[in-house]
Amino acid sequence: MDRDAYLERLGATTDESADLFEHFEQRSFDGRTYHVLSDARHGLERGTVIVEDADAIIRGYPSIPRLLVLEPGVQSFFEDRETVVVEEKLDGFNVRIADVGEPLAFTRSGYICPYTTARARKLLSLEAFFDEHPEKTLCAELVGPETPYTTTDYEGIDTHDFRVFGVRDRETGEPLPVADRRAICEMYDFNQPRLFGRAPPESAAETVRDAIDELDAASREGVVMKSEPGDAMVKYTTEAQHHDELAYAFSLPFDHGRDFVFSRLIREAFQAAEFDEDEDRLQERAHDLGESILRPMVEAIQDVDDGETIGHRHTVRGDAESIDALFDHLHDQSMTIDVEADRREDGERVVEFVKVAESSRDRIKHYLEGGTR
Ligand code: ATP
Repeated sequence: MDRDAYLERLGATTDESADLFEHFEQRSFDGRTYHVLSDARHGLERGTVIVEDADAIIRGYPSIPRLLVLEPGVQSFFEDRETVVVEEKLDGFNVRIADVGEPLAFTRSGYICPYTTARARKLLSLEAFFDEHPEKTLCAELVGPETPYTTTDYEGIDTHDFRVFGVRDRETGEPLPVADRRAICEMYDFNQPRLFGRAPPESAAETVRDAIDELDAASREGVVMKSEPGDAMVKYTTEAQHHDELAYAFSLPFDHGRDFVFSRLIREAFQAAEFDEDEDRLQERAHDLGESILRPMVEAIQDVDDGETIGHRHTVRGDAESIDALFDHLHDQSMTIDVEADRREDGERVVEFVKVAESSRDRIKHYLEGGTR
C-alpha cells in the first residue's frame, strides 16, 4: 500500500503514520484485499476502510454522542445552530454501502458482510444511485425480525429491509444536509427513518419529548437529532428501549459486559429524574425495570436446567450462496452457531440459528451443579 498517498487523503500527519497503519488490519473478500481501521484514532472513525484495488477510502460512521437530560441538553448541544431535525432512531444493524467496482456493504467495524451485501443489491436500486453518485456512501440500518444481527419488529416489515439515514462523501465522510438526503432518497425509492420535525434549538426539546412519548408507547427505540446545516448529531432513547436492552443483556447474564448494563441503568435514572414527576409513574418504572432484569435471568437459568441451548436466536432468508457466506463470516468472528432449522420457502433458503452464549451456559451450569463463585 502506498502509505504516503493514503496518509494525505486520510488527513493524518506523517508523525501519525506508523501508529495509524499498525491499526489497519488486512482482510479479504471474494479474492479482494481491503484494510480496516480496527479502532478510532487520529480523527478517523473505527471501521474506516481502504480498498486498494479501487483506490477508495470509505470513512467509518461516526460515533453519535448521547444526551441524558433533554432540558437543557438539547439547547446547549445545538447552541449556535440554526435548526434541529428530529428523526427516529431505528434499532437495527448499521451498514455503509459503497461502490468499489461493485456495491459492497461494510459493517460498523469495517468488515464486508456478504449477506447484507446480497440483500442490499436485491432490495435497493444501487446501480441507479451509484451511476449518479459514485463517490458517495449510503448509510443504512438493516432492520426487521429476520436479520443475522438484530430481531426488532417494525410494523410493515415481515422479514427485513433497509432504512437509509445518511448519504456521505465516502472519502471525507461529509454528510449531505438532512433535507437534501431525504430528497435524494425519495428519488431512488430508498425508505428512510421517520422525520418528527424541525425546530430551533430553544424549542427542540419539546419536539423530542413528544416524539419520545409516542415512540415509547409503541416500544420503539428513540431519536437522533441532527443540525441543519452542519453535521452535529446526538441521540436520546426511550424507557422501552432501556428495558429491552437490559432484558437482552440479562437473558445471557455472563456474556454481556457490566458496562453495557450499567450505562443502561444510568440512562434510566436520568430519564426518571427528568420525566417521572409523580410517585406512581416512578413506581411503575421501577417495577418494569426490575422485571426486565430478573425475569430473563431466571428464564436463562431454567433453560439451562432443562438442557436447552441458550443464546440469541435469529432467522435469515435469501439465496443459498449468500447464506453459506454469512455462516463463514460468523464463524470467522469466532461465534458458535447452532442451526435449528434449514428449509426452503417460496424459492428461498430460510435458516433459523442460535448464536450460542457459551459463557452464560457454562457458568449457569456450574452453579446449578452446586459450584461456588
Ligand atoms: P456510537 O454511535 O456511540 O458508536 P453505538 O454503536 O452503540 O454507539 P447506537 O447507540 O446504536 O450506536 O447509535 C448509533 C447508531 O444508530 C448509528 O450507527 C446507526 O446505525 C443507528 N441509527 C438508527 N437510526 C438512525 C438515524 N435516523 N440517524 C442516524 N443513525 C441512526
